[in-house]
Amino acid sequence: MSVTVRVPAKVNVRLAVGAARPDGFHDLANVFLAVSLFDEVTATPADALTVTCTGADADRVPLDRGNLAARAAEMLAARAGIEPAVHLHIAKSIPVAGGMAGGSADGAAALLACDALWGLDTPRGELLDICAVLGSDVPFSLVGGAALGTGRGELLTPVDAGTFHWVFAVADGGLSTPAVFREFDRLTAGTAVPEPQASPQLLAALASGDAGALAATLANDLQAAALSLRPSLADTLAAGTGAGALAALVSGSGPTTAFLVPDPETAAKVAAALEASGTCRATHVASGPAPGATVLP
Ligand code: ATP
Repeated sequence: MSVTVRVPAKVNVRLAVGAARPDGFHDLANVFLAVSLFDEVTATPADALTVTCTGADADRVPLDRGNLAARAAEMLAARAGIEPAVHLHIAKSIPVAGGMAGGSADGAAALLACDALWGLDTPRGELLDICAVLGSDVPFSLVGGAALGTGRGELLTPVDAGTFHWVFAVADGGLSTPAVFREFDRLTAGTAVPEPQASPQLLAALASGDAGALAATLANDLQAAALSLRPSLADTLAAGTGAGALAALVSGSGPTTAFLVPDPETAAKVAAALEASGTCRATHVASGPAPGATVLP
């Protein structure tokens, strides 16, 4: 018997970053949108906790206790007072270290898969608490849809969202999220960083489903830092807007770039142009909001 959970990637339609706090973390105002680019995590009974992974970036995924899926299984087992005797297989489509919360997604998926496999029926609120300990983006991977995240990003309020179409361009190699935050601190040193906020205009545009209105309000405060560490991303952004995207931005901490398009036809055109441009490794067409982590029948 095994349990498979499907879990979405996310794009931040707004990533507002405050000044570094004394503990080194940053207060954030994140507007998350889950998109239809999915990993699948399958949990099967085993003698001990093991992890395998397949997919384009599989060689860059840790298979030890550093994997968020393994950590999720360990935390849930410890809470239930049982051994984490499970094999976790990750079928990976979400770019690794790409700013789309792939590791977080697998953590949320493993948690849900193990909960079902072990018949624990853990209350949703407790699953969300475990997610928040695993990482700032993990609670959103569990709930999906669209949400405003405050604190380190883990305090979630669901928000309304119409359907939006996207193209994602995957870059060669990853960017480390802590390194991008350090570069943000370096670039903003000596400046007054405003309190992070999601504007009412952005939330209204998201709710309306009007891609043109959303394009006018999308913003990522980490974009300058990601571009500073990876200047070639500017060419990818330009290739997508040149091909008809309404807006282009770095996804989260990058280096994946996200292109908002008006419809699926334009998505196909922009994806083809990006692939022909030679400025990215691969593209994915997706739409959002997508549901959060879900047990497959
Ligand atoms: P975020 O958008 O949340 O900042 P990300 O999408 O940039 O994250 P991830 O794909 O989550 O980045 O990977 C970041 C690092 O986490 C990887 O380099 C890898 O070492 C580690 N990691 C741990 N578990 C996983 C996992 N299940 N899949 C991918 N990477 C993982």
